[in-house]
Amino acid sequence: MKIVMLGAPGAGKGTQAKMIAETYGIPHVSTGDIFRANIKGGTPLGMEAKTYMDKGALVPDELTVRILLDRVAQDDCKNGYVLDGFPRTIPQAEVLDAELDKLGDKIDYAIDVEVPDENIVKRMGGRRACLSCGATYHIVHIPPKQEGICDKCGSELVLRDDDKEETVMKRLAVYHEQTQPLIDFYTKKGVLKTVDGTVDSTDVFAAIRGILD
Ligand code: ADP
Ligand code: ADP
Ligand code: ZN
Repeated sequence: MKIVMLGAPGAGKGTQAKMIAETYGIPHVSTGDIFRANIKGGTPLGMEAKTYMDKGALVPDELTVRILLDRVAQDDCKNGYVLDGFPRTIPQAEVLDAELDKLGDKIDYAIDVEVPDENIVKRMGGRRACLSCGATYHIVHIPPKQEGICDKCGSELVLRDDDKEETVMKRLAVYHEQTQPLIDFYTKKGVLKTVDGTVDSTDVFAAIRGILD
């Protein structure tokens, strides 16, 4: 099963993608997590990506596509995957489509997690991220068991540099301009499914299970 998660930054794509990955036994592939791991490791890729991410801009398609295609070519992706944060532009979606087509394959579901902009801005200040394992929490809605510490790996949780309100506003604008057109793209392919992302995360997941089961 190959799944694409769509939705604004902060809609809950990562939260849901992790639950899908655990429940259905497929890897969770997040381009944002790959970039952040590279920034943490001080790699040239990380240093390049950071210049865009800090501004709330997208990393160029060419670089992003290369990273993603390398990742999904790995063995653990053979039986499917859930993509979180990719594609984010029509050209990215077209390349992915063409690569899958060569393999006689396709995306089975594109799940759009719908959350209005007002809710997003409120949510993001409360997001805390683990840069070691990619887990995310919310100080009010999805708190870790111990404040500031990742439940899954024990690392320290941080407020991401790009989750400051100003940068969030910029990312939302970029989302509407460059990523939202993908809703149309996947609707035309007949694979778009929409879920309400404003309800509790367990209820969002119940709706997703209803689609995937
Ligand atoms: P969020 O989960 O808040 O939507 P991500 O972790 O997916 O954020 O992405 C963080 C940043 O990484 C983006 O703002 C962008 O700069 C970069 N990025 C991640 N995925 C992509 C992509 N597919 N194309 C271009 N840039 C990307
Ligand atoms: P995305 O990957 O789309 O950027 P995240 O999964 O990181 O979004 O979620 C953004 C923030 O909102 C995080 O702090 C997360 O814990 C929180 N969150 C996720 N789902 C919900 C929900 N259904 N209700 C309230 N907060 C949520
Ligand atoms: Zn962790």
